[in-house]
Amino acid sequence: MSSAPTRDTGQDHFWTVNEHLEDILATVRPLDPIELHLLDALGCVLVEDVTVPLSLPPFDNSSMDGYAVRVADIAGASEEYPAVLTVIGDVAAGQGEQPHVGPGEAARIMTGAPLPPGAETVVPVEWTDGGLGRGPVSRMRAHSASPEGASGQVAVHRAAGARAHVRDKGSDVKAGDRALAAGTILGPPQIGLLAAIGRATVRVRPRPRVVVLSTGSELVQPGQKLDPGQIYDSNSFALTAAARDAGAIAYRVGAVTDDAEILRATIEDQLVRADLLVTTGGVSVGAYDVVKEALQSVGDEDEAGSGVEFRKLAMQPGKPQGFGSIGPDHTPLLALPGNPVSSYVSFELFVRPAIRALMGLEDLHRPTTRATLEVPKALTSPAGRRQFLRGTYTDGKVTPVGGAGSHLVAALALADALIVVPEDVESVEPGSEVEVVLLG
Ligand code: AMP
Ligand code: MG
Repeated sequence: MSSAPTRDTGQDHFWTVNEHLEDILATVRPLDPIELHLLDALGCVLVEDVTVPLSLPPFDNSSMDGYAVRVADIAGASEEYPAVLTVIGDVAAGQGEQPHVGPGEAARIMTGAPLPPGAETVVPVEWTDGGLGRGPVSRMRAHSASPEGASGQVAVHRAAGARAHVRDKGSDVKAGDRALAAGTILGPPQIGLLAAIGRATVRVRPRPRVVVLSTGSELVQPGQKLDPGQIYDSNSFALTAAARDAGAIAYRVGAVTDDAEILRATIEDQLVRADLLVTTGGVSVGAYDVVKEALQSVGDEDEAGSGVEFRKLAMQPGKPQGFGSIGPDHTPLLALPGNPVSSYVSFELFVRPAIRALMGLEDLHRPTTRATLEVPKALTSPAGRRQFLRGTYTDGKVTPVGGAGSHLVAALALADALIVVPEDVESVEPGSEVEVVLLG
């Protein structure tokens, strides 16, 4: 990895939020493109210009259910003096063989069916009597239409010009046109277009595989019984969900006990399916903070340059953070703090942009806006730390939910925004304008 830091990284040095993010983004490279089936490519970035191999529509076809006729045969037709034509058969969508429409004749045609030879225009069924004349005479067997429609005669009571209700071949896109440019993010309409031009697979940057692993001997899987002193593992769920929401294919490993050897072995096992690893917990200065110990030994086995560096960040919550790369493929790893709000805020600030960078997306960050702070009394914020408070945002106003405590998961669940209080601000008055990150 590239982070041979030139900065002072001693114990007392605090990295800014931006420095830490820049270090991560300088290391994380977009994943190599692969060929994916269309539905697997949803949300991915296209890496090829896609050229249209066949025109759309591929043939002239009817935009209405009606009758394919010659223009001269219905000229001057009216309610009073309808043009009465002989119905020679049906043309249904998907039908390869069509009847030839001669003078005085009409072919009953369905939406999307090819305009039959000889026909010059389509009159919608609403402009006719619906072929209520006498019994069926059919030169062509109708194979999908109801037989009662293909009656002997149809009375047309309104004229139409040439190619009315006809969708011309190539009127959507023409063979040789560029359908989609490299760099396009494939949403449902783009997937639909690729299918319409016959593409089964497409070359994109894949979704990154993100492995989420929480640490802590106190953690119990939801659904199981809690013994005294234990809590449920919520981080691995929140962050796996967040990784999926960011576009990743995320795997939740769940809680690993506070044992450096077990943790190291677990991480090594996961490397094979990870483009990015995320851990939570065990990165501060407690007696059982084993993530540092475990990760340093994973890096040891590889060439110089591998390894995870642990730092203090000038932010709240989320002060202790680890970042680096591990294993033979130099898989990036972000070690986030264990407190649930800290890990979630850290994910939003650092992991989400990393996932989007791996996907080759250009827009890495959540939208931000300015909002008026709605609080009963001034907020205080620690000096020298960028604080991220949880809030609810509506119509240019933001209100904090819960306090600054990084254990407040219930308040986090009510929030849809982060209120940013800069490093040099220690107090924010009610009604002040603040920066807000919209969590979407
Ligand atoms: P740590 O950073 O491991 O010391 O954890 C800090 C705090 O966050 C402790 O109160 C932990 O119990 C709590 N915590 C750590 N990991 C999780 C988790 N996966 N789910 C919920 N709480 C956690
Ligand atoms: Mg812990």
